[in-house]
Amino acid sequence: MELEAKLAVLADAAKYDASCASSGSKGRKAAAGSGGIGSTDGMGICHSYTPDGRCVSLLKILLTNYCVYDCLYCINRRSSGVERARFTPDEVVRLTLDFYRRNYIEGLFLSSGIARSPDHTMEQLVEVARTLRVAHDFQGYIHLKTIPHASPELIAEAGRWADRLSINAELPTQGDLAALAPEKDLGVIRGAMTAIRGRIDEARAAAPTEQRAPRGPELVTLRRAAARRPNAAVAPSLFAPAGQSTQLIVGATPSTDATILATATSLYATHRLRRVYYSAFSPIPDAPTALPSLSPPLVREHRLYQADWLVRFYGFRAAELTTLEAPDLDLALDPKLAWALRNRADFPVDVNRAPRAVLLRIPGVGARSVQRILATRRWRRLRLADLVALKVAVKRALPFVVTADHAPRLLDAGDLRERLLAARPRAAAVQTDLFAAPADARGGGLALASALGTGASARSVLFGEL
Ligand code: SF4
Repeated sequence: MELEAKLAVLADAAKYDASCASSGSKGRKAAAGSGGIGSTDGMGICHSYTPDGRCVSLLKILLTNYCVYDCLYCINRRSSGVERARFTPDEVVRLTLDFYRRNYIEGLFLSSGIARSPDHTMEQLVEVARTLRVAHDFQGYIHLKTIPHASPELIAEAGRWADRLSINAELPTQGDLAALAPEKDLGVIRGAMTAIRGRIDEARAAAPTEQRAPRGPELVTLRRAAARRPNAAVAPSLFAPAGQSTQLIVGATPSTDATILATATSLYATHRLRRVYYSAFSPIPDAPTALPSLSPPLVREHRLYQADWLVRFYGFRAAELTTLEAPDLDLALDPKLAWALRNRADFPVDVNRAPRAVLLRIPGVGARSVQRILATRRWRRLRLADLVALKVAVKRALPFVVTADHAPRLLDAGDLRERLLAARPRAAAVQTDLFAAPADARGGGLALASALGTGASARSVLFGEL
């Protein structure tokens, strides 16, 4: 098969994997005149998109879509009638370098079906990364998918050359895996994640300064030293500096958002993952009857990302974001607003007095706005117009906050949820004008600030339409 035809098959086959964003990569460039190439922070790259529209700038391919496993949700499963192809490691290296030189990509995301055996597949993945780093001094971003059953030595070497490693848990419970991917075992997957975490921790502890991953010229130097002694023991500070990630498929099984979030939280806590990616199940051609015939609404994936963010950066526990009666996230409201409506006794919050942890729980108030509120209130009492200026989504926050000039009146209203839904900004289906003044998606923006500045009451400005 021609290289181009293989590329068409194996790039298409890779599109179902969402766990490839390059967040967490450190800025790094091959030094001028060094003979090396690559940079993780270049511009002018060709973007590719996952089915739900996320933008990535990596050459995202499978080494092969042959697979000895038979995961029912996967188009590459053993029993699938899909067209098959296989790259050699040299072909992947060549493609990566060609695309990089043309400035199409900023790195490589390489995954694979399990051809022959986990070790055979892992060896080939490692060979690609090693050849790029050692033979071509490639300093671009490399994300390698890791095969959980592969030998620890191979996983250790993968971490030596890759920026990021990932192992897809795919489904949130062992029961789900038993139903749809019987050859996979959550215990083995988590064992491999534990081993990777151990090596990452070791690398951080051995980092020359503070407890950070090497980056920039320091990482280039380490990689060159490793390349000169390819058979030497793995230098701990070289191990997967952008950490590890995983993907959970949403909607392939009846598992609720509560279960998915509980698994994600446990993965973050136990294996210190950089990211859990949530990927809405996509129906595949000739799908087995055990699978749903439709994708879940994409907004479910979006709500899971929002909830994930609240747990990691806003001090929420996953269990607070759903209830026994409603174990799935509310699709109509963001999870923080839904939580606030269920916990009205915790409000209103006085933005001039509340501690940071409490401010973080106010709907419409982001972590950056909290920092700004804390900084500004040191020298004056905040008014509603200040919240607008500090980029708070005031329409969402208004029923839950007290400011110097505002006390909420709608907190106990039985129809507050409906009022908030009705007040949501709706995206107008019009082409925006490149030179028009920027619209403020936070519910009024400059116009709102100026209306408040004229003395109009907050309620009349924000809830006049309700
Ligand atoms: S192991 Fe991976 S490639 Fe193979 S069938 Fe399962 S999900 Fe698909």
